[in-house]
Amino acid sequence: MTTLNEFSRCVSQYDPHALPVSAAQAIVRQWAAPVTAVERVALRDALDRVLAADIVSPINVPSHDNSAMDGYAFKREVLTESGNASTVELSIVGKALAGHPYTGQVDATQCVRVMTGACMPLHCDTVVPQELAERHADSTTIRFAANAVAPGANRRLAGEDLACGQVALRAGRIVRASDLGLLASLGIGEVSVRRRLRVAFFSTGDELRSLGEPLEPGCVYDSNRYTLFAMLRRLNVDALDLGVVRDEPAALEAALRSAAASADVVLTSGGVSVGEADFTKQLLQTFGDVAFWSLAMRPGRPLAFGRVWSGERPGLGSPALFFGLPGNPVAVMVTFYQLVREALLLMSGATSQPLPLIHAASRQAIRKRAGRTEFQRGVATQDAQGQWHVAPTGSQSSGVLSSMSEANCFIVLGHDQGEIDEGERVDIMLFDSII
Ligand code: AMP
Ligand code: MG
Repeated sequence: MTTLNEFSRCVSQYDPHALPVSAAQAIVRQWAAPVTAVERVALRDALDRVLAADIVSPINVPSHDNSAMDGYAFKREVLTESGNASTVELSIVGKALAGHPYTGQVDATQCVRVMTGACMPLHCDTVVPQELAERHADSTTIRFAANAVAPGANRRLAGEDLACGQVALRAGRIVRASDLGLLASLGIGEVSVRRRLRVAFFSTGDELRSLGEPLEPGCVYDSNRYTLFAMLRRLNVDALDLGVVRDEPAALEAALRSAAASADVVLTSGGVSVGEADFTKQLLQTFGDVAFWSLAMRPGRPLAFGRVWSGERPGLGSPALFFGLPGNPVAVMVTFYQLVREALLLMSGATSQPLPLIHAASRQAIRKRAGRTEFQRGVATQDAQGQWHVAPTGSQSSGVLSSMSEANCFIVLGHDQGEIDEGERVDIMLFDSII
């Protein structure tokens, strides 16, 4: 068994005391193996699930050439054979509506009244929209300018949306609203998806109180479990809330082992730095394969990452990937989005999708030291020209959760970036796309 320690050392820039975010992300990515179990679900239940196999179109969509407009269908020869005549006159021989095809023959002096979505009558390939055609008082003929339509205009081709045999959606795709419609258009009522990832999480700390409990002096309500619950819910994993665990080695060990027994991933918050009540470290060294990192990142410096087992020694019982997140509420969110999110998506079987960054001009100078990545909370707005501007929210302390609620983006200040001047360009990550 390769241990995380052995593996990590091989990653370039590995330094457990100041690990760059990109190096940590690279390690995490390598250890995030997708779940293999697959289940068949009805189409509606596939929303937000991860496709386990490519979907190959069993039919052409649309199945027949059809009209894109309400108008009159005819053969293109009508236009080419009109010679120098500037107008074309055709007699109406029938009608086709969506779902009601016209099955008769049509010659080069004739046309068929067609509605949008109606099958193109045999040999007809061009439609003149009704707005461009003048209908005679007797209703049996139409007339239109020969240059009003190009040959082949206003016709949708069979298979134009999806051709039979073509891959319509790839394995690893997270099914979206348009995909449900697309699958329905193929007549597919059931699909194979990966089983949901199971993620167990708990908070650690003697000072933590659950909702409904009185708050004694020095205590705080446990907010991390609620943020984690919400972030996990958005990723559509099965989230298993294991409550608050006291800063006692025996309680922590029991909680970690039962979490590993029931989940693919275990997330904890608190207790991973170097304080006197931070027992996680000692414990995990005995029955986990866990690296304790000091990330070159702010907030979110202390982070533990590795594997834990339900048995009493590494390798015994069932394994789970483990993230020991910092205790500070903002640090929990930042480390979740920068490190945990991608791992959970990959383990769910989804293809990795980096979070988009956009450029914004900083409304003020920002203090920043080169050598670590910072995720400041910011408020971004767009001006009339479409240019984004951003300002940090007031307090940037990692304990101030209200800074996250006030903000609408992270201001991402790169590892090598130094002080930011007013007006300088910075990267932002809008919450709307992630949170
Ligand atoms: P720790 O990493 O355990 O030293 O915790 C760092 C800070 O985060 C301390 O001020 C804790 O009280 C706070 N904290 C830890 N866990 C939670 C939590 N679940 N909810 C709110 N605050 C927390
Ligand atoms: Mg603590």
